[in-house]
Amino acid sequence: MELAKKLKDKPVEVLMLDRHNYHTFQPLLYQVATGALEAETITFPLRRIFQNQKNFSFFLAEVLKINQEKNSLETTIGEITYDYLVLATGADTNFFGSKELEHFSMGMKSVSEALNIRSMILQSFEAALTEKDPLEKEELMTFVVVGGGPTGVELAGALAEFKNHILEKDYPKLDDCDMRVFVVEGKSSVLGVMSENAASKAQKYLQEMGVIIYNDVHVKSFDGELLTIDDGRVLRTRNVLWAAGVIGQFPEGISADNIVKGRRIQTDEINRVKGALNIFAIGDVAAVITNDNPNGYPGVAQVALQQGKHLAKNLVALIEGKETEPFKYNDRGSMATIGRNKAVADIGKLKFAGFFAWLLWCFVHVFSLLGNQNRINVFITWMGRYFTYNGPSRLIIRPFSRQSMTEDAAAK
Ligand SMILES: Cc1cc2nc3c(=O)[nH]c(=O)nc-3n(C[C@H](O)[C@H](O)[C@H](O)COP(=O)(O)OP(=O)(O)OC[C@H]3O[C@@H](n4cnc5c(N)ncnc54)[C@H](O)[C@@H]3O)c2cc1C
Repeated sequence: MELAKKLKDKPVEVLMLDRHNYHTFQPLLYQVATGALEAETITFPLRRIFQNQKNFSFFLAEVLKINQEKNSLETTIGEITYDYLVLATGADTNFFGSKELEHFSMGMKSVSEALNIRSMILQSFEAALTEKDPLEKEELMTFVVVGGGPTGVELAGALAEFKNHILEKDYPKLDDCDMRVFVVEGKSSVLGVMSENAASKAQKYLQEMGVIIYNDVHVKSFDGELLTIDDGRVLRTRNVLWAAGVIGQFPEGISADNIVKGRRIQTDEINRVKGALNIFAIGDVAAVITNDNPNGYPGVAQVALQQGKHLAKNLVALIEGKETEPFKYNDRGSMATIGRNKAVADIGKLKFAGFFAWLLWCFVHVFSLLGNQNRINVFITWMGRYFTYNGPSRLIIRPFSRQSMTEDAAAK
């Protein structure tokens, strides 16, 4: 989106292809998943963003394959040719190759996945109300978040708020002590990607809210009822939320030599795919690998936004035969929220935690949303929730039902 916007009024024709006709603000998916925000407030129609851009068109299509020698794409709406191709296809959940984990646990990369999680959580409580078997009830009331990075911490915090403030109001016949929220994290603290201060504060806040954190361990298997951890512990649960990593997603046609750690596409400093003349990759799918930056940049929104803007300038330079400029990431810091009124934020050398960090987090996230209506809706919802703890959308509109593993495999 940033790239296309920056190409407005430039001597180019921009064609955007996406399998969805809307943009998703992924950092707030966890609030959709836990009924705190409506899905519409974190999405925005792509066509509307570009209504006034004459050199822009959009097709709703899935890109299946890149034919580099023909400069063309195989898509669900037929073949499309290009002069320059930019891959900004993002990332998908990394289940580390386990079909069983992929089938039985829930990833959260899209609105439909977040809505599935919302339904699953609410259906579990509804089922627990009438469940007589104590072991079955334990499974329904136990929530395990795998991965204690920002997404896992935010999800666990929202589930703990549900337990502490909503369960007794919405489900007075369920005992809130029966609801348990676990985080299973491979490192010695949650939020290992942030500063030590942020990590220890986040761990403490979660524990104060009643979240049980297992550190320095990994999930070994999950069969839909029993989750086995590599230190031998076993949790009975039906609700496993997988936030343990991502891998790049992109269509066929990229040489295996260009695919690096995390299944990302290796590019040079101007985001050009190694060995290609007119193919570029930006955002979560790309790894700009240089001597100074051997692992690529982190898969966060700021990198994607800055690369989009920067590549627009470089594409115009290439077309006009001018010099290109290498991309340099300007890290503006990172933050994560824990529950309704606490957050941690690392901004350069400044480290914040608690209520002020939460205000900062709210401000940044409200302004990052697309559309004034969404900003106002989210702001009003958050203010309401701050005082009442209530979110607007604890609705089971599209009930979640898990197919059998064979049906699931056949559908893919
Ligand atoms: C739950 C969650 C929380 C996050 N929280 C934060 C946060 O707090 N702060 C932060 O900085 N970052 C956060 N991120 C990461 C951030 O959202 C990403 O870094 C950013 O969205 C990357 O942008 P992108 O353009 O590379 O990819 P995306 O935003 O993922 O966009 C990729 C687009 O490509 C489309 N697409 C993919 N494959 C195809 C295909 N074959 N054909 C057609 N279309 C296709 C998709 O539909 C999608 O619209 C979070 C991510 C998630 C999932």
